[in-house]
Amino acid sequence: MHSMYYGGGRRRPQEPVRVSRELLLRILSYFRPHWVEVAAAMCTVGVMSAIGLVPPLMIRELVDVALPNKDLSLLVALVVGMVAAPTLGGLLGVGQNYLNTRISQEVMFDLRTHLYRHVQSLALRFFTSVKTGEIMSRLNNDVSGISRVLGDTLTQTVAQVFILVTTLILLFSLDWRLALLSVVMAPVFLAPTRRVGRIRYDLQKATQERQAELTSMMQETLNISGYVLMKSFGREAYEAGRFTDKNRELMDIQIRSSLLGRWFRMLLQVFEALGPALIYLFGGYLVVTGDMTLGGVIAFAALLGRIYGPISGLANVQIEVMGSLALFNRIFEYLDTEAEIKEAPDARVLATALGRVAFRNVSFGYASGIQVLDGVSFTAEPGELVALVGPSGAGKTTTTYLIPRFYDVTAGSIEIDDHDVRTLAMASLHEHIGVVTQETYLFNATLKENLRYAKLDATDAEIEQACRLARLDDVVAQMPDGYDTLVGERGYRLSGGEKQRVAIARVLLKDPRILILDEATSSLDSQTEAQIQEALRPLLRGRTTLAIAHRLSTVLAADKILVLDRGRVVEVGTHAELLANHGLYAELYEIQFKPQLSGMLPVASLSATA
Ligand code: ADP
Repeated sequence: MHSMYYGGGRRRPQEPVRVSRELLLRILSYFRPHWVEVAAAMCTVGVMSAIGLVPPLMIRELVDVALPNKDLSLLVALVVGMVAAPTLGGLLGVGQNYLNTRISQEVMFDLRTHLYRHVQSLALRFFTSVKTGEIMSRLNNDVSGISRVLGDTLTQTVAQVFILVTTLILLFSLDWRLALLSVVMAPVFLAPTRRVGRIRYDLQKATQERQAELTSMMQETLNISGYVLMKSFGREAYEAGRFTDKNRELMDIQIRSSLLGRWFRMLLQVFEALGPALIYLFGGYLVVTGDMTLGGVIAFAALLGRIYGPISGLANVQIEVMGSLALFNRIFEYLDTEAEIKEAPDARVLATALGRVAFRNVSFGYASGIQVLDGVSFTAEPGELVALVGPSGAGKTTTTYLIPRFYDVTAGSIEIDDHDVRTLAMASLHEHIGVVTQETYLFNATLKENLRYAKLDATDAEIEQACRLARLDDVVAQMPDGYDTLVGERGYRLSGGEKQRVAIARVLLKDPRILILDEATSSLDSQTEAQIQEALRPLLRGRTTLAIAHRLSTVLAADKILVLDRGRVVEVGTHAELLANHGLYAELYEIQFKPQLSGMLPVASLSATA
């Protein structure tokens, strides 16, 4: 488990990349499934680099043979060859580019899918401790960064190695003295690259981090809730200032990074001019002394570009590769975050469930050392309505989170029909549990699509039936496009009470045996309250319900009320029993529930077992 995600978003100090064997092997493992394409790309590169050697050799023939011998047909043949070779090379280049793009896109596809699945499998804890923007940035920016590196740099590197090796062999066979001179000059090129590579790498990492910070800042302030918060506290200038600061940091880094790269290339250009100049100097001397032909020197100088090109290219590649290793590192960091909640290898599928939920001496803490639940035990029999009440922060929400395994207990166990939830297949566990939370989350899609999320193959008739039961049909009738009205963040704004009924309809469609109901704390007007009660009736019927109760109607209807205080069950009983106890419940009743007495429906209207 990575500590960085559990420290409230604290950043780890920058650590240098270690180009370890493991890291490289791991990156290579993503290429293994595409080895056929990789091999084909390599062959193409090999042939292309060999074809590139042909024109300089033709120049030599032209200068040394065709011209002195006045052989016009050879001249024409050589000229045709000079055009044919790059044409063929260019055609191969197209093919190679296709292969490159395919490989890099496929690797990126795998990486992105892998990352998405993995992040999905992480516990809720991950999402409560990492900024959403940061996750988005890794999935988007980092993965595309990698594709750029894979698409261009990687194949280029291979091509450059091929070109370098084939050209060097040819150079030594042409004239070993000049070849030796060229090789001796090479280290001059490579010397500055290591340092520059380091700096570029640091800048690249800094860029990625600033980008992630910016994304997360935008994500936090440019959504509805963030916007309302910002406006209502008049913090536009403050947010804009923070944004500008980060934005400027990003700009400065980018400018420095770009300048650094340019300076570096400028130096290389000087060296590239220096090489042929020296070859003409010494080669010219060899021609004068009769040790070399003129065509040989011209061919040599032309070939020289083919080694300095790749050497400077390879120097840049090193920089790019170092940068891309940083990207891989960031992605692997996420992939290495262990899925805390795992399905047992021999997990069993619970085809049907009665719906008995039992907590056996359950303890839990979000962080080690801080106990949020302490020895909680209770049983909800099939079909029972169990109400959880208690002061805020008592651990009610936490209790409900443990049943679908958003978190796992630290001690004790939770059982469904006598099976520890940790022994059940995840899909099977979630199939039997329905959740209605305080805040109903709707996707930015049509109402029908939002409802169908609960049951992908639901027919229109089933959806309409669920909406009727959830008392939503009147609302739908008034919506501009009925079931096809766009709801969610950018769509038709449903009221809180309406959203709750959408949530209820959704669970009705899903039809689970166990229901977790977190009632909205906000007090509703009596008409909405009545509608919600009406909607809840079919929802609770025949289901085991664990309700975080904020409504009087719910506690009155409950078969059993659990009173939680500071993570412990302090009282259990029915409303009447608990009132007679004159304990915490009686106190809560006075403050929280009794004031609702005016304007509520008769008690009998809400009964779980009705
Ligand atoms: P309730 O629902 O009864 O109001 P909760 O179950 O939400 O209480 O919270 C119980 C305790 O756990 C509180 O002290 C709360 O601050 C703490 N808590 C809740 N969520 C987290 C979290 N993600 N990380 C750390 N502590 C948390």
